[in-house]
Amino acid sequence: MPSSNRPAVRDNLAMMSGYHSPQLDVAVRLNTNESPVPPPAGWAEALRDAMSGIDWHRYPDREARELRAAVAAHEKVRPEQVFAANGSNEVLQCLLLAFGGPGRVALTFEPTYALHSHIARLTSTGAVAGERDEGFALDAEYARQMIMEHRPAVTFLCSPNNPTGMVEPPDLVESLLAGVASLPGLLLMDEAYGQFDNHTAVRLVAEDRPLAVARTYSKTWSMAAARLGYLIAPSWVVAELEKATLPYHLDAFKQIAGRLALAYQSDMEDRVSMLVSERKRMATMLDALPVHQWESGANFILFRPHSGDGLEVWEKLVERSVLVRNCSSWPRLAGCLRVTVGTPTENDAFLSAMSEVLA
Ligand code: PMP
Repeated sequence: MPSSNRPAVRDNLAMMSGYHSPQLDVAVRLNTNESPVPPPAGWAEALRDAMSGIDWHRYPDREARELRAAVAAHEKVRPEQVFAANGSNEVLQCLLLAFGGPGRVALTFEPTYALHSHIARLTSTGAVAGERDEGFALDAEYARQMIMEHRPAVTFLCSPNNPTGMVEPPDLVESLLAGVASLPGLLLMDEAYGQFDNHTAVRLVAEDRPLAVARTYSKTWSMAAARLGYLIAPSWVVAELEKATLPYHLDAFKQIAGRLALAYQSDMEDRVSMLVSERKRMATMLDALPVHQWESGANFILFRPHSGDGLEVWEKLVERSVLVRNCSSWPRLAGCLRVTVGTPTENDAFLSAMSEVLA
């Protein structure tokens, strides 16, 4: 059909370019912060066994009760305080469908996870971008002023923050929470990388606080392919999100996969420890190279080569079959690249490619 005859998409979509991370065929993929290792073999076996019990001709449990009960026990909250969806991205989408929308504003502090403002625009929520300081820290007083000025329905914080890796101090979180509570608005803590650091806002979740914490199976649980994430929030928030999802949005297989995974918590913690010690090793090695890096509490490190542009370094790494995330065209991140912590062998490949490229 000639493009002049095509129906026009919504105005706010026409202005958007979508969200892309290239999926190139390389030997070492360190670009999307996935786990470099699969979940435990025991989980895969248990999942195979459980599959035979699925009633494939029936819709799945619409409320995902067993999954939510298991997540609630794992996070030490009540099942009514758990909402699950297809990845934490869908959790965020539901949150903005329910609490954002036309005439309302979502506040982010840039640079941060691009999907926060992207999903805001998709849901016709106004996206207001606050700025972090030069070192990418967030000043508490400035953040409070932004909240008071823009009166956001939803304020986003990401800790550890993607793509900087930085962890938000607990007193900053509490100060923002007090600010949004006075509006009233909601504070969304995105803890997709929460287990890589010791801080969590989950313990602050209470029925009388407008705080919601999003977590995912995609990183520490090694289950990016499953597309499963969840929210810990007051039950009145969860009840509203239920209205914003499509019926039966979580398939039966995924509900079982997520529930069974939680029995392998110590395996998950072992993987996290391995990645944290590899992250420390990579940071030490990067210190010896001509790059600036930011201290990370996640499974990735943001860095900027002292010379050359980021794209050129990224291309030379790809030539050596190492794929990292090219952030160099992102606002405020000129020249920056982000590397996911992989297996020791993958990290060695990255480090030796970096030494060659920057020599
Ligand atoms: N939040 C952050 C900060 C992320 O980095 C990601 C994945 N890149 C997500 C949420 C979404 O994760 P998923 O949808 O796989 O749960």
